[in-house]
Amino acid sequence: MKRIGVLTSGGDAPGMNAALRAVVRTAVHDGLTVFGIYRGYQGLIEGDLAEFGPRSVANVIQRGGTVLRTARSEEFYEAPGRAKAAEVLRAHGIEGLVVIGGDGSFRGAEALHREHGVKVVGIPATIDNDIAGTDVSIGFNTALDVALDAVDRLRDTAASHDRLFLVEVMGRRAGHIALHVGVAGGAEAILVPEVPMPLERVVDLVRDADARGKTSSIIVVAEGAYGGGARVVEQALRERAGYEVRTVILGHTQRGGSPVTRDRVLASRLGFHAVRALLAGDEAVMVGTDRRQITHVPLSSLPGLSKGIDEELLEIAAVLAV
Ligand code: ADP
Repeated sequence: MKRIGVLTSGGDAPGMNAALRAVVRTAVHDGLTVFGIYRGYQGLIEGDLAEFGPRSVANVIQRGGTVLRTARSEEFYEAPGRAKAAEVLRAHGIEGLVVIGGDGSFRGAEALHREHGVKVVGIPATIDNDIAGTDVSIGFNTALDVALDAVDRLRDTAASHDRLFLVEVMGRRAGHIALHVGVAGGAEAILVPEVPMPLERVVDLVRDADARGKTSSIIVVAEGAYGGGARVVEQALRERAGYEVRTVILGHTQRGGSPVTRDRVLASRLGFHAVRALLAGDEAVMVGTDRRQITHVPLSSLPGLSKGIDEELLEIAAVLAV
C-alpha cells in the first residue's frame, strides 16, 4: 500500500482534528502518500481532495470541529454513489481509506469495502459515545466537560432561587452523556432512554425531595428520553404536580470547543493505529480500545453489537441523590 485517504463524516466531534493529524503524520512517517478528503463521502464522490503533508495539519490538535469539514451524503447511501466514490479512489491510486466518524459512517465504509474491495479503517468519533466495540469514542469526554460546566452554573441559580431545573443534554438515542454529567453534577435524577423511569416516579421523586427539605433540584434528561426529551418531563411535572420548571436545552454548544486532554490522546492513539492497521493488511475494521488496550473490531460485526448503559452507575446516582 502506497497511498491512503482520510475523511471525517457524520456529526462533528471535538478531537476529529487530532485524529486527522495523527493519521497524516503517521502515514508520512511510514512512507505513505496521504490525501485529505473534504466534506465526507460527498466530497469523495465529487473528487474534493488534496495531498496532505505534516504541515497541512499544523495547529489543529487543539481545535474543535473538523478542518476537513463533514457532510451527510444521500448519494453514498446508494450503490451508484459508492461506485463513484470507489472510482475516484482508483483514479488517485488510493488503496486504503480512514473514516473518522460514527456508526452510520462505518456502515457506509463497510459497504464500500464489500462492494469495491477498498480497505477501510474506522476511527470512532462522536460525542454521543454510542458506538459499540470500544470503551469510549473521541469527543465524549469534551462534551461531558462542556455540559457539566453548564450544569454547575445552573446549580448556582437553582440554589439561589429555590428552583427546579431540567437540563437536556445530547446523546441521540443514548443516555451516556446524561448519566455521566448527572453523576458529576450531583443531579437529583437522571433520565435516560435505556432505562425509562415512569413519569409518575419522576413526579414522586421531586415531591419527595421537597419533603426532605431540598429547595432546589437539577434533573438531567437525555434528548432521547420519552421520545421528546426535557419538554415531555416539563409538561408532566407541570400538569401532574403544578411544579414550575425551568428547562434548559444545551443543544449544539456541547459539540464544539477545544478537545480535552483525554480526547486528544485517544485521537492520537487511534489515528496512529488506523494507519498501522492498513499497513498490516486489515481490510475493514474499527480501531478502538477495550480497557485501554487497542482493539481491531470487524466493521461487519458492529451492527450486531450494542453499547449498554452503565446500570451500576445509574444505581449509584440514585443512592447519592438523597
Ligand atoms: P454518523 O457517522 O455520525 O453516525 P450518519 O449516520 O449521518 O452519521 O452517517 C454519515 C454518512 O455515512 C451518511 O450521510 C451516509 O453518506 C453514510 N451512511 C450512513 N449509513 C449508511 C449505510 N447504511 N450505507 C451506506 N452509507 C451510509
